[in-house]
Amino acid sequence: MEKYLEELNEAQKAPVLHKEGPLMVIAGAGSGKTRVLTFRIAYLMEQGVDPFNILALTFTNKAAREMKKRIAQIVGASEAKNLWMGTFHSIFAKILRFEADKLGYPSNFTIYDTQDSQRLIGAIIKEMGLDKDIYKYKQIQNRISSFKNSLITVRAYYNNPELVEADAMAKRPRVGEIYEAYCDRCFKAGAMDFDDLLLKTNELLTRFPEVLMKYQERFKYILVDEYQDTNHSQYLIVKALSDRYQNICVVGDDAQSIYAFRGANINNILNFQRDYDDVKVYRLEQNYRSTKNIVNAANSVIEKNKQRLDKNVWTANDDGSFIKVQRSITDAEEGRFVASSIFENKMQYQLSEGDFAVLYRTNSQSRAIEDALRRKDIPYRIYGGLSFYQRKEIKDVLCYLRLVLNPKDEEALVRIINFPTRGIGQTTMEKLTVAANHYKRSVFEVMENLDKIDLKINTGTKTKLDNFVTMIKSFQIINKESDAFTVAEHVVKKTGILQEFKKDGTPEGIARMENIEELLNGIKDFIEGQKELADANGSLAEFLEDVALATDLDKDTGDDDRVALMTIHLAKGLEFPYVYIVGMEEDLFPSAMSMNTRSELEEERRLFYVALTRAEKQAYLTYTQSRYRWGKLIDAEPSRFIEEIDDKYLEYLTPPLDAGYRYKPLIDADIFGEVDKSKLRLKRPVAGTPPSYKKPSEEKLRKLRKLKPGLDQPVENNNLFDNDLSVGNKVEHSRFGKGEIIKIEGVGNDKKAEIKFENGGIKKLLLRFARLKVI
Ligand code: ATP
Ligand code: MG
Repeated sequence: MEKYLEELNEAQKAPVLHKEGPLMVIAGAGSGKTRVLTFRIAYLMEQGVDPFNILALTFTNKAAREMKKRIAQIVGASEAKNLWMGTFHSIFAKILRFEADKLGYPSNFTIYDTQDSQRLIGAIIKEMGLDKDIYKYKQIQNRISSFKNSLITVRAYYNNPELVEADAMAKRPRVGEIYEAYCDRCFKAGAMDFDDLLLKTNELLTRFPEVLMKYQERFKYILVDEYQDTNHSQYLIVKALSDRYQNICVVGDDAQSIYAFRGANINNILNFQRDYDDVKVYRLEQNYRSTKNIVNAANSVIEKNKQRLDKNVWTANDDGSFIKVQRSITDAEEGRFVASSIFENKMQYQLSEGDFAVLYRTNSQSRAIEDALRRKDIPYRIYGGLSFYQRKEIKDVLCYLRLVLNPKDEEALVRIINFPTRGIGQTTMEKLTVAANHYKRSVFEVMENLDKIDLKINTGTKTKLDNFVTMIKSFQIINKESDAFTVAEHVVKKTGILQEFKKDGTPEGIARMENIEELLNGIKDFIEGQKELADANGSLAEFLEDVALATDLDKDTGDDDRVALMTIHLAKGLEFPYVYIVGMEEDLFPSAMSMNTRSELEEERRLFYVALTRAEKQAYLTYTQSRYRWGKLIDAEPSRFIEEIDDKYLEYLTPPLDAGYRYKPLIDADIFGEVDKSKLRLKRPVAGTPPSYKKPSEEKLRKLRKLKPGLDQPVENNNLFDNDLSVGNKVEHSRFGKGEIIKIEGVGNDKKAEIKFENGGIKKLLLRFARLKVI
């Protein structure tokens, strides 16, 4: 038996050695699904399957690279090079370039990022003269994105009365027109957005049977990791490509499906057996990642979900320590706790920064953590914020490069035509856009043909436009003969971008210059890296594609010894010895936007399951009593997910505190923390509403008493019992005697209870002074 197979247990070996036909590995976190997928590819190759015939789809390109490295160790680097491995988006972008002409796109089509899409949609809304407060560009972009992921084209939209009506009801009857204009403009600009990469692949495979056949023959073996998070569009691509040979291997965990909000469909995994004939299902139960405490705690939480497949995850690892729960008064204090705790653990157990991760529900939570880490000089890296490539100065340079490759790229043009300033104003651009729409040409083409069209642009401006066109064309000539670095260097010098920031002279300007320098270095590294691969030479086209599809997680900085900060969504599939899950508060996690239906709440719970199961040795859960959100200090109460963990796996570093009331922010925010402030309202608690949290259990109180002295901070005006009172409670007052609460009103320091005492009197008492005892 091959040596590498000894690194698998029996249950894992079975799917690796599985011969032909569809198979599904369905198993809990840390049970070796990704390892099975990796080893299966190596095994197939050893069995003589040509790497050209294997396609592996992963959650990030970095994951694909790591898997490839492992496979290279087993079968040799030169063979592994020929594997097609990567995210859906990067693999199908490549295929679309080969086949672009069939769909009427140039093979050098631009990939619009979300920013580009949003700007374009904003521009269309403005051109149509619509109210931008009703037609919010971000919301419309979201909606269009969801249409595309469900393969609803413009025509399908109009043919679907439900969708049309929904938009009419939302007082946005012209969404269809915006959608149509957006698609036209993208097409005219030779651009695809992220969703198009899947939508157009589907179009390609359905409209052109010979193309479908070609790729079915090419990819005789298809493997998909994290299958639970594929959306409809991805599902259809996989289904079509694997239809002929049915050598499809999917691995996943229904309990880790966390992208429903972006259209991922958990049913893809649940229905897999129905979709293919003779599916063999393999289950893995042994977790190799985490301690017993972590595995069992995670099991005890996910059991609360109704919609799930039964799984029995266990581990032979040590018990490990309890999951530690920490309460802070503010988010700043929470940050300080995390920073000190990381520092202490690092010192005590001789760890490095790379052993730690801080996970949160929304990006905006990172700031307080960052501040605290910085103060303690702890190096960290934040993932998934504004990516390097989205920084203003970097995107400016990139837009020049995009334009060199594809002069029709309207978003790139709009962005840099007057940066650095060259006297081409808004009005001129509007005239050009109108003409472009009229002639059904790109703006750049209009600029090339100014003397043939009467545009009422004065000669001075005309000269400026001519100069711009000439400059871009000169870059194109360089691009024909050189690699990405040479072109970029030229662009940076000739456009005057560097001088612009130099002139600026402020520290910010200098930082921007340095960033541009870093971009140039990055391009050099990229070229080196590309040359190591078989079929690439470091052209500008390759570089731009890499940038367009790079997520923050993909970047190899070569300097991974830093604390990792990221949202839980990004942490999927990763593992760290020490994990801090911060912001464990109601309305934050579970998110206020995800508590309306059971299925939303269950998705939040799966998200928590993912978070907890990232930890190998130790998990911390932290929450605060108050938090700044959207510029307001809001009282917070501990997340129900802490309660849901079986108490025997927890250790409280501070006593749990029960807040007896809650704010419910009614907001429209996306998962990455962007908030529509206009919708921010705080709902006052209704008098008499029972607190959603029960009194600490005896078990917890026992633990509180066991606390080390000094660990707990005194908490002002927050009597453990007062806050937990509700209507109907029997209480005792030192002066008035026994009574029953008949009403509760107010919040925080103003919280009052109306009490009917046994001696006949009714009194309204301010709770923070009343010192009531529950009887
Ligand atoms: P997730 O659901 O989080 O994606 P997974 O099921 O993909 O997890 P892996 O990441 O493949 O799990 O494995 C989890 C950890 O356990 C990894 O560090 C892996 O190297 C290790 N591991 C898996 N199988 C074995 C084994 N048979 N022996 C030793 N270690 C193993
Ligand atoms: Mg995995």
